[in-house]
Amino acid sequence: MNTVTRPRILVVGAGFAGVECVRRLERKLSPDEADVTLVTPFAYQLYLPLLPQVASGVLTPQSIAVSLRRSKKYRTRIIPGGAIGVDLKSKVCVIRTITDEIVNEPYDYIVLAPGSITRTFDIPGLTDHAFGMKTLAEAAYIRDHVISQLDLADASQDPVERASRLQFVVVGGGYAGTETAACLQRLTHAAVKRYPRLDPGLIKWHLIDIAPKLMPELGDKLGSSAQEILRRRGIEISLGTSIAKAGPEEVTFTDGRVIPTRTLIWTAGVVASPLIATLGAETVKGRLAVAPEMNLPGDDGVFALGDSAAVPDLAKGDGAMCPPTAQHALRQGKHVADNVIASLRGQAMKPYVHKDLGLVVDLGGTDAVSKPLGIELRGLPAQAVARGYHWSALRTNVAKTRVMTNWLLNAVAGDDFVRTGFQARKAARLKDFEYTDAYLTPEQVRAQVEGSGRPE
Ligand SMILES: Cc1cc2nc3c(=O)[nH]c(=O)nc-3n(C[C@H](O)[C@H](O)[C@H](O)COP(=O)(O)OP(=O)(O)OC[C@H]3O[C@@H](n4cnc5c(N)ncnc54)[C@H](O)[C@@H]3O)c2cc1C
Repeated sequence: MNTVTRPRILVVGAGFAGVECVRRLERKLSPDEADVTLVTPFAYQLYLPLLPQVASGVLTPQSIAVSLRRSKKYRTRIIPGGAIGVDLKSKVCVIRTITDEIVNEPYDYIVLAPGSITRTFDIPGLTDHAFGMKTLAEAAYIRDHVISQLDLADASQDPVERASRLQFVVVGGGYAGTETAACLQRLTHAAVKRYPRLDPGLIKWHLIDIAPKLMPELGDKLGSSAQEILRRRGIEISLGTSIAKAGPEEVTFTDGRVIPTRTLIWTAGVVASPLIATLGAETVKGRLAVAPEMNLPGDDGVFALGDSAAVPDLAKGDGAMCPPTAQHALRQGKHVADNVIASLRGQAMKPYVHKDLGLVVDLGGTDAVSKPLGIELRGLPAQAVARGYHWSALRTNVAKTRVMTNWLLNAVAGDDFVRTGFQARKAARLKDFEYTDAYLTPEQVRAQVEGSGRPE
């Protein structure tokens, strides 16, 4: 059989959902049954829940970047680039490769798993001055930036500059923001001991959220425990508060306080990848509206899942949609692969059902809160569950070994607080890290597809 007659399955995104899907397709389909192609800008699957530990130096960036080429058995063709538009009518995905070439990639089945980007609001100065915590580059950048603030404050003779460099603001009281604030506070707390000229009392971390509670998914008791741990460590928590204005050297809170700071980390939620809007299809809060089988009703061979899709949460019912978590994304990845195969073989597809297993929150050191299967845990047992869960979810044994070795090394030898300077003087806005303006409009997608015809 030649390649042209085999069905072409195109998977977009090598995150939790995309990689799970591809690996299952490789396992369950014989090479003669279909060609599988993966579009991804990076050559790794990023284990996002451990990103705050990269920012704080507990883990090296490489430890959570899991190779897509670990095994000879992986036979998927990988296109290095990002999808910038999809034309559902002609079944073509427009891709910008990592060398900026535009390629039209035809498909018979497409699985959309491009994840999400940081959600921003129309707040003056926000997109110019805030850092996100969604990519490996952002985590590495923030680590260097925070250490730079200590270095520069130490060198400065100006008390006003020192004070502003030693205040840090994290917006977003979900697990991403809470873990980020907790892990980075541990970093500065430990690092300041190496700066005898700096007054540790000047270091101040703020964690703010517009909601009345931190991580409401934890429930009242566990949420208060997390809050208590952070307050004990000196993190100032302000609830019912957001940002009114952000500038290069200060941030104004909605309660009127003006905080002198050079560090604003914005983790106030996520929104589906801009790729979804290029389809011109129905969305729910920006996520592609799909059936419980994760296919797009009315469009043959189109599937979407993970953070970029509004997958009905049948276990919860009441019209709920699955929350944007890795827990769902990787299970949906397996499930969607089965449905693609069923559709290819003319069999019935099955709806996705998964009951949430709970939440683990690593606050650094022995501080943690976890709620596995509804059981509330704090301290060491919670930390063991959190790390055990993440460790076992890493895809390859090499990644598991790297992470475990780094945890042990950090526990025994601590951090060296090295500022690499790799990204110094480079643009550091959200759009530069998350490529948010790389996408085409639906009209541009059509023009691109019609202009070059449909390559076979
Ligand atoms: C700091 C942090 C902590 C978290 N902690 C937890 C946790 O403890 N538990 C939990 O369950 N969840 C957690 N999450 C959420 C979880 O990481 C996401 O829900 C999950 O990654 C979603 O999986 P996904 O496959 O949809 O997207 P992702 O894993 O984000 O993967 C999307 C992939 O698509 C690629 N991509 C993006 N755009 C394109 C494009 N145009 N073309 C091609 N490829 C593209 C990206 O590079 C990426 O590789 C956390 C998230 C963050 C940021």
